[in-house]
Amino acid sequence: MRQKRFFLTESEIPQQWYNIRADMKNKPMAMLNPATRQPVTVEELSALFSEECSRQELNSTDRWIDIPDEVREKYTYYRSTPLVRTYGLEEALDTPAHIYFKNESVSPVGSHKLNSALAQAYYCKREGVTNVTTETGAGQWGAALSYAAKIFGIESAVYQVKISYEQKPYRRSIMQVFGAQVTPSPSMSTRAGKDILTKSPNHQGSLGTAISEAVELAQMTPGCKYTLGSVMNHVTLHQTVIGLEAEKQMEMAGEYPDIIIGCFGGGSNFGGISFPFLRHNLSGDRDTRFIAAEPSSCPKLTKGRFEYDFGDEAGYTPLLPMYTLGHDFRPANIHAGGLRYHGAGVIVSQLLKDGFIEAIDVDQIESFEAGILFAKSEGIIPAPESCHAIAATIKEALRCKEEGIQKTILFNLSGHGLIDMTAYDQFLSGNLVNYRY
Ligand SMILES: *Cc1c(COP(=O)(O)O)cnc(C)c1O
Repeated sequence: MRQKRFFLTESEIPQQWYNIRADMKNKPMAMLNPATRQPVTVEELSALFSEECSRQELNSTDRWIDIPDEVREKYTYYRSTPLVRTYGLEEALDTPAHIYFKNESVSPVGSHKLNSALAQAYYCKREGVTNVTTETGAGQWGAALSYAAKIFGIESAVYQVKISYEQKPYRRSIMQVFGAQVTPSPSMSTRAGKDILTKSPNHQGSLGTAISEAVELAQMTPGCKYTLGSVMNHVTLHQTVIGLEAEKQMEMAGEYPDIIIGCFGGGSNFGGISFPFLRHNLSGDRDTRFIAAEPSSCPKLTKGRFEYDFGDEAGYTPLLPMYTLGHDFRPANIHAGGLRYHGAGVIVSQLLKDGFIEAIDVDQIESFEAGILFAKSEGIIPAPESCHAIAATIKEALRCKEEGIQKTILFNLSGHGLIDMTAYDQFLSGNLVNYRY
């Protein structure tokens, strides 16, 4: 098995993130305050989020936004991440396609989520915030935020969906190692939690209950802000460091991708690898295809509707113009926990509506088959989420074989699956099923 890896030197790591809204002719529609139906303001957003993230959230004019030195320094702990040419997978598929992946699984917490957690924790610290809260399902975002908070010397409190807290103890342990206070949600520590438990004492928790509790804690606690790991514009902005690095690394490889693929939960890793390349489509210089791979059990891009909807189950967030299955949609309990989200970020939604990107849905079993083929050829066990991007990549590579065309495909490996081995166990013992919407 051959592999070729490309790295950047420290000085080549990007100095700025790319804000694609500056280059979009059709800007995303405004997010609305649900009470007034008026566009939300920075002041309103900064009641919950740090001020800088609130400004970034609504910034549709500055093309480049400086990465603070303090954040960039932390990025150098694990960046640049490798760009890898996967000769092994190409051989296994017997395809003329050249396949590359950007390996975000090498971050200290094993996924791309740290790219935004570091930025969000840093801005909180700089603004004098002492505590951050968030919710987490399977725990990838919670783990990233806990580590980022520790690095910048602030306290973190994470509400984890109760059933995940009990069934997936290892990410909870990771958060606790980094010093986070982890509470299973619903809990008796907030009014929202108490109300839920009074009505249903055996409630297993959901992202909705965890968000309600994290938001309430942030609102009730002085010096405390709330953070999010996906969906919001500022999160995807921070993730563009992935695509900006990949652009330079593809240049080192002497190729330019014809197709770029990412798995899709709320859109941050897909947008992160895509937007820097998409800017050349927007300027008319390239016609790269961009494919978002979502689970067929939660297909907001391929089967959802474009409309105003809440970003969370409880209805605390602004109304977002996006592709959505409805904020009360309950996705099946697939192993790719990071993809179980009802909506899509507003930038990606507008780009899909305008035909700049494509989406496909992937069944759970097919995703694990793809992940295992990748693991056998590359030696990396992919996160169940990332398996969806691999499945889409394999589809395109096999199409190249059928049509006898050489294309260059780049996908994002958003995380590794070493803490998700129970999912692989279930697949290997034939106990996994597909859930169709
Ligand atoms: C959270 C997560 C995702 C999905 O989130 P996006 O915002 O869509 O990127 C994908 N892969 C991994 C490993 C994750 O942890």
